[in-house]
Amino acid sequence: MPAQMPPVVIEGLERQFTLHKAWEAPDREAFLREVGPTIRGIALGGHTKVDAAFLDRFPKLEIVSSFGVGYDYIDAVEAGRRGIIVTNTPDVLTDEVADLTVGLLIATIRQLPQVDRYLREGRWLEKPYPLTATLRGRKVGILGLGRIGKAVAKRLEAFGLPISYHGRSRQEDVAYDYYPTLVGLAEAVDVLISVAPGSAETDRMVNAEVLRALGPNGVFVNVGRGSVVDEPALIEALRSKTILTAGLDVFADEPRVPKELIEMEHVVLLPHVGSASVETRRAMGQLVVDNLVSWFAGKGPLTPVAETPYRR
Ligand code: NDP
Repeated sequence: MPAQMPPVVIEGLERQFTLHKAWEAPDREAFLREVGPTIRGIALGGHTKVDAAFLDRFPKLEIVSSFGVGYDYIDAVEAGRRGIIVTNTPDVLTDEVADLTVGLLIATIRQLPQVDRYLREGRWLEKPYPLTATLRGRKVGILGLGRIGKAVAKRLEAFGLPISYHGRSRQEDVAYDYYPTLVGLAEAVDVLISVAPGSAETDRMVNAEVLRALGPNGVFVNVGRGSVVDEPALIEALRSKTILTAGLDVFADEPRVPKELIEMEHVVLLPHVGSASVETRRAMGQLVVDNLVSWFAGKGPLTPVAETPYRR
C-alpha cells in the first residue's frame, strides 16, 4: 500500500495478506528496494501515479486494486501490456455520486450555500435574499452517459426535465437525444453536466467554444474530472457572463483550486466529495479488498477495468 487508505482496506488486507505500508517507511527508496521485488498485489487510491517507472519496481506484480471508479492516474494500457490486472470500484458509488450531482445542480442554480451564508450573517433581518435563477424549464445535457450519467439522467427525468447526451457513440438502449458533437449538445441545452472520465481524449474537451454554445443562461456542473475542462476558459466564461454559473466538485490540479474561482461569489465549489459518505466509502474500500482476495483465491478479479487483459 503506497499511501494510507481507509481502515476497512487496511484491516481487510491485514486479515488475509502480509501488508507492507510504504508511507510508514522512514526511507521509502530503501523500503522499495527491499520489498518491491516480493510484491504481488498493490492497493491504492488517487494520489499514487502508476506508470511504467512505477511498475518497473514490482517485477512480480499481478494486480493493482484501485479505490474509486476513475483510474486516470494509472497507465492501465501499460499495466495490461505487462499482464497486470487493474481493478476499480464501479457501481457501489453510482447512486451516491448521482445524488450529489443533483444536489450540486440545485445548490448552484438556487445559490443554497450563498443563501445559507446570508442567513448566518444576519442579513435576512435587513431584507430578503435576492431572487435566483430556476431549474424549471431547463434542458439538460450529459457529457458521459455511463453508469453515473444514467443515474443522474433518471433522477432529472423525475424532475420533469428533458435529457440529451454526448459520448463517443449513440446508445441504442436509451431514449434520450444523442448529439454526435459536444458543441452541438451545448447549443441544445442550458444545463451541461460532465460525468466523463479523465483521459487523453477527454482532456479539456469542455473548452471556450463549448461554453459559448452553452450560452448566457447556461449552467455547467462538473462531477467527472477537472481535466475534462479548460479551467482558464471556464474562469473567463464565468467572469464575462458567457455562461450563468457553475457547480464544480472536481478541479484540474486538486486539491489546489484557482483563486479566481474561490473569489467568485456566484459559483458553488465542492472539494471532490461525490462519493464521500461513510457508507459508500466503506463499500468502495471493501471492493478494493474483495478484488485482491478473489484474485489470490484464483477466482479472477471482480471488477477489472476495460484495458485489463483478464477475460472471464
Ligand atoms: P462509465 O465508464 O460508466 O461512464 C463514462 C462515460 O463517459 C461513458 O458513457 C462514455 O461513453 C463517456 N466517455 C468516455 N470517453 C469519452 C470521450 N472521449 N468523449 C465523450 N464521452 C466519453 O463511468 P462512471 O459513470 O462509473 O464514472 C464516470 C466518471 O465519474 C469516472 O471516470 C470518474 O472520473 C468520475 N467520478 C467522480 C466522482 C466524484 O467524487 N466527483 C466519483 C466517481 C466517479 P462512450 O463510451 O459512449 O463515449
